[in-house]
Amino acid sequence: MLHFPPNITGQPVVYRLVKDFDLTFNLLKASVSPGEEGLLVMELSGNEKDYDKGVKFLTEAGVRIQSLSQDVIRDESRCTHCGACITICPTEAFSLEPRTRKVLFDHNKCVVCGLCVKACPPRAMILHF
Ligand code: SF4
Ligand code: SF4
Repeated sequence: MLHFPPNITGQPVVYRLVKDFDLTFNLLKASVSPGEEGLLVMELSGNEKDYDKGVKFLTEAGVRIQSLSQDVIRDESRCTHCGACITICPTEAFSLEPRTRKVLFDHNKCVVCGLCVKACPPRAMILHF
């Protein structure tokens, strides 16, 4: 997951990863607006040397890189089923069960962006490393 500071959201950073470092990417989620902080969730692959160079380039350009070897889980005892996470999640990992009005969490859809962790009022969503 790449966090772009506002001053570089207009720059062709991902293009440089492909052109200069011969890396390929699979974009899973993008939220980038010029002048605002941007977020890209992607799978990045290439040979190890190029990958390391590409990551160095990103870091030096000011991009903050978060590895998705992290995991997000829900503390069921804390969840109040308020629904605040449903519209926030970019991968629709949360859904409302119509009969019970409970909020269901599909862990398999989670790409560990962390948005629900900040948004959950009782802090039921927990980031694990
Ligand atoms: S925001 Fe938190 S408390 Fe509310 S439904 Fe989602 S996980 Fe449960
Ligand atoms: S961390 Fe939360 S908001 Fe992000 S994908 Fe996973 S469940 Fe959805």
